[in-house]
Amino acid sequence: MIRAEHDTLAHNYHPLPVVVARAEGVWVEDVEGRRYLDLLAGYSALNFGHRHPGLIAAAHRQLDTLTLTSRAFHNDRLAGFAEGLAALTGLEMTLPMNTGAEAVESAVKIARKWAYEVKGVAPGEATIVVADGNFHGRTTTIVSFSTDESARAGFGPFTPGFRVVPYNDLAALEAALDDTTAAVLVEPIQGEAGVLIPDDGYLAGVREATRRAGCLFIADEIQSGLGRTGTTLAVDHESVRPDLLLLGKALGGGIVPVSAVVGRRDVMSVLRPGEHGSTFGGNPLAAAVGSAVVDLLATGEFQRRATELGEVLREGLTALLGRGVTGFRARGLWAGVDIEPSVGTGREISERLMAEGVLVKDTHGSTIRIAPPLTVTADELRGALGSLEKVLG
Ligand SMILES: *Cc1c(COP(=O)(O)O)cnc(C)c1O
Repeated sequence: MIRAEHDTLAHNYHPLPVVVARAEGVWVEDVEGRRYLDLLAGYSALNFGHRHPGLIAAAHRQLDTLTLTSRAFHNDRLAGFAEGLAALTGLEMTLPMNTGAEAVESAVKIARKWAYEVKGVAPGEATIVVADGNFHGRTTTIVSFSTDESARAGFGPFTPGFRVVPYNDLAALEAALDDTTAAVLVEPIQGEAGVLIPDDGYLAGVREATRRAGCLFIADEIQSGLGRTGTTLAVDHESVRPDLLLLGKALGGGIVPVSAVVGRRDVMSVLRPGEHGSTFGGNPLAAAVGSAVVDLLATGEFQRRATELGEVLREGLTALLGRGVTGFRARGLWAGVDIEPSVGTGREISERLMAEGVLVKDTHGSTIRIAPPLTVTADELRGALGSLEKVLG
């Protein structure tokens, strides 16, 4: 089965050799009936677990009523979704899209148009400042400002108009801002880079610097947002409000791709009819699932769980320091764990964990990322940490 896939699927991934057939909550089951605890959670697309009953019920209800209209017509689910996002985030307007990359692309377009129409940047001169080590998706424009050679090599020519500065370096960021700057686009925590958490004050500093420079602050919370770090958004840790907020992954409840740009009314209003769009963006099924996700987050239960279980995760990882783990970074229920290279590569550790019934994903050689569904129990998490201890030993 795995071999058949290898012959007919593009080889743009190197999956672990497990063929998943079923899943519920934090557990997935392979074609042979073996069970695994899912510590990746679809890169945080499964924050509420696999097939969360409330989300599945919302999807079923919508499947039986109305699934797609296109934006040529109104549908009766979309306005409620946008209102829910506004209430959840403290921002005003939503542009619904599908994938994370589309939300990023949309924000780039909005920021550029805002720069020309509102800030008065000369035509064709707008720049967007981004951070070293970023991950914002895979389109040609987005890989144009990636610093990961494997994401870029062979895909040029690239889109101009981006300036890359070191992450977590406010002085370098401020030095890159000028009259051409439309926006600063950063991840509040860099997930793909290995869960890199900037110093306290960095996000508030970005907010202040962008305000002073008269440009927009775009926070890509596609992976860090929606409960993962113990707050609704990772920027909440510094009580910062960006001008544009990018959401995706968990917004689709692990069921359908749903992404959004949520932002200030005066900024979002640069888009007028006919200037941007998406056939599937804001479809009734996506809006129904997205609204159900917003309702789950409005209870605060998942943010609370991420905080509490994050302590269990932190304790477990602290105990492994010097015993195969050289360091880790964690916030909420999210950690990047650096493995002592002599013990094994991230990939090897992932394969050994798989044999123990635990699924994780390596990133950047010797780092593994731990991001279980926020529905995991403390005992399940301790069990997985025990498996990690075993495969490191
Ligand atoms: C996953 C991710 C994206 C891209 O989302 P896709 O749905 O895969 O296009 C963008 N930004 C961040 C921070 C991500 O983690």
